[in-house]
Order: sequence, then C-alpha cells, then structure tokens
Amino acid sequence: MTFDSASSKRYDWHPMLINELPTTINPQKLCQSAPIGGSHMVGKISLGKLPNLDETLENQPTAQISVSVVFSMDSEGYCCIAGELSVDLSLICQRCMLPMIEPIRATFLVSPVVSDVQAEQLPARYEPLMVVNGEIVVTQWIAEELYLALPFVPRHDYECVSHDAYKE
Ligand SMILES: [Zn+2]
Repeated sequence: MTFDSASSKRYDWHPMLINELPTTINPQKLCQSAPIGGSHMVGKISLGKLPNLDETLENQPTAQISVSVVFSMDSEGYCCIAGELSVDLSLICQRCMLPMIEPIRATFLVSPVVSDVQAEQLPARYEPLMVVNGEIVVTQWIAEELYLALPFVPRHDYECVSHDAYKE
C-alpha cells in the first residue's frame, strides 16, 4: 500500500486513515501535504516484523503493536510527527524472574532530519528522526520507539518476592 500525498488531498477536511502501515514512508512529504489537523496513520505491526529484536521480544512474534501517528506542519514550519504506540508484552520480572505482562504505552514527538547538524538545530520539543533519501523504514522506526519505551528493569507492581526472601 502506498501512502502518497494525492490521497490526502481527497480528504482535506478530516484526517486520512489507513488500516495497514506502509513499509516505508516519506515523513517530510506526508507533513507537507497534510491537511489542517494532520494526516492520520494508524495500524498494527506484529512484533515479529521488527528488526533486531532481543531474545525476550523475539519469543513473542505475534504480539501486536498498535501504532497511531499524525503528520502535520507546526506554526514554525517544522514537520511535526506525533505518535503513540501500545502493546502488551511478556517480560521477565527482574525481582522474581517469572514472566509478567507489561502494558507498554508510549508517545513520541519527532521531526525528520537529514544530518546531525540539522538534528542539533531542532527545537527541543522534537526528537530527531533521521531519514535516508527522504524515507524511513516504518518497522525500524517503531522498533526504536518501542525500545525507548521498554522499562529498564521490569518488575511486578506488587511485592512478588517477600522482603525476607529478597536480598539485593
Ligand atoms: Zn516478580
């Protein structure tokens, strides 16, 4: 499925919705061609489609990541990409070493850049999103955002091991 500017023009009074995430996108183009209110991209990606998974994540390839992204231009002329992702992951609690379901919810605000210099010049509210030849690979991008959202030390939110038994 392609995600081009022509289709967004047809729906210029409400966000465009697509149900399948494209493989690659041109974020600059999507922002520049977005109608007022932005172009809205939603979809799901199976965890197994993401590159460079670590062992824990590799073992749950069918987990579905829900992705929602809005492309727009901000008032200063920057490309504004506001996204969120959510997925329920099975992680290993680092206190009792038993599996636990962790609902991961993350939001991100990024703007495409082509160089480190450009990244440094971005307003602080944006994280730089490095594009190559104008494009980004969606699975790679979402994988990066997911890793940023993972808890550093996953733990049950209750006392899964009593204080007596637990020695640091
Ligand atoms: Zn635990």
